[in-house]
Amino acid sequence: MSSSLDLTPPSDGAAITLDGDRLIVPDNPIVPFIEGDGTGPDIWQASVRVFDASVSKAFDGVRHIAWFELLAGEKAKGLVNEWLPKETIEAVKTYKVAIKGPLTTPVGGGIRSLNVTLRQVLDLYACVRPVRYFEGTPAPVRHPERMNVVIVRENTEDVYAGIEWESGSDEALKVIEFLERDMGRKIRPDSGIGIKPISATGSKRLVRMAIRYAVANRRGTLTLVHKGNIMKFTEGAFRDWGYEVATEEFRDSVVTEEEYWNGAKCDGKILVNDRIADSVFQQVLTRTADYDVFATPNLNGDYLSDACAAQVGGLGMAPGANIGDEIGFFEATHGTAPKYAGKDVINPSSVILSGAMMFRHLGWQEAADRIETALARTIQQKKVTYDLARQMDGATKLRTSEFADAIISNM
Ligand code: NAP
Repeated sequence: MSSSLDLTPPSDGAAITLDGDRLIVPDNPIVPFIEGDGTGPDIWQASVRVFDASVSKAFDGVRHIAWFELLAGEKAKGLVNEWLPKETIEAVKTYKVAIKGPLTTPVGGGIRSLNVTLRQVLDLYACVRPVRYFEGTPAPVRHPERMNVVIVRENTEDVYAGIEWESGSDEALKVIEFLERDMGRKIRPDSGIGIKPISATGSKRLVRMAIRYAVANRRGTLTLVHKGNIMKFTEGAFRDWGYEVATEEFRDSVVTEEEYWNGAKCDGKILVNDRIADSVFQQVLTRTADYDVFATPNLNGDYLSDACAAQVGGLGMAPGANIGDEIGFFEATHGTAPKYAGKDVINPSSVILSGAMMFRHLGWQEAADRIETALARTIQQKKVTYDLARQMDGATKLRTSEFADAIISNM
């Protein structure tokens, strides 16, 4: 990429478009990518070779991705002195589907996390994280294979909305005074204040997407995860709105747990239940196989995603996507691991599996299947990067680029 902001789309591709809520994908879609900071370039260079090989093998050269590099993070800061150029955001809006490596969160200077900003400005209201086990991956539990869940987490509200004021600031003191004067609620004057908005609109569209996902992928159970016993009007309301969407909009496809207890049969329908957030953390360990798709507010989902990923071998393996009504943005779930940058050692599986998710989103299942099967085979052969090799007996430790080669030769 040149030293100016050269956002010329590739000439050998065509844009993905929308017909209502259906994606129209040409054989040569333009897909924007952000390679990411730190180890991002190591990971991207390996991943893109895997993506291209899978498409070429799956579609015999008829289809290909026209990759379009966008700038964000340290690379953007260095080239155009901006962390997140508006041209990058516009290009993602235009092309509908994009993929990214991890981005550094700038510290200080009032700059918010780039990932959170991207989710908010593009209204990517659902963070979708499938967590499943790949045989042979070292895992801390006895039966990691029982875990096969998808966490659909609200992405724009809750304490992550970014509405907060520092302890002692004029704003915090004003809110404290208002709450005491007008609402009769006392808060210690040296408190920092954060606001936790959870709306009917935000909750319902999230649960709607999770149920649609469960229906389309023939999953058995949808669990609403909340802390409604304590936070009744935010988390409790999330649960109530969730059941409302399930029973009013998907009546023929769902049975609630209460209906089931009262004798209703599931008969291939999705069982919709709810669990309190703290109990769900022990449930995913003790009754792992009972859980399937989770719909959750932002903070619960953040914790739950990492806990589930840890159970099957860690974040290096976990893919993710941020999805809105129009845009799908696929991404690594880990950070930039800066100490390994440029060393060609990092595990690229998270971005590679996010790419497989992206292909499913495009309807290119054959490419996704090839990636997942080849990656599983490579791990079974004990050909892995350092992070897995150090936990396995008899493993062959591969560089990032060699790991990509091994996956490609296993396709
Ligand atoms: P991190 O980059 O995820 O790295 C923490 C440790 O996790 C690494 O030192 C490494 O452990 C392990 N790890 C992470 N990714 C791995 C991979 N692909 N393969 C193997 N091991 C991996 O977390 P961090 O150091 O807290 O954050 C660094 C920067 O990333 C920060 O600026 C943070 O804000 C940003 N971040 C970005 C995203 C995102 O873009 N989505 C997400 C989280 C954090 P070992 O040292 O034990 O090998």
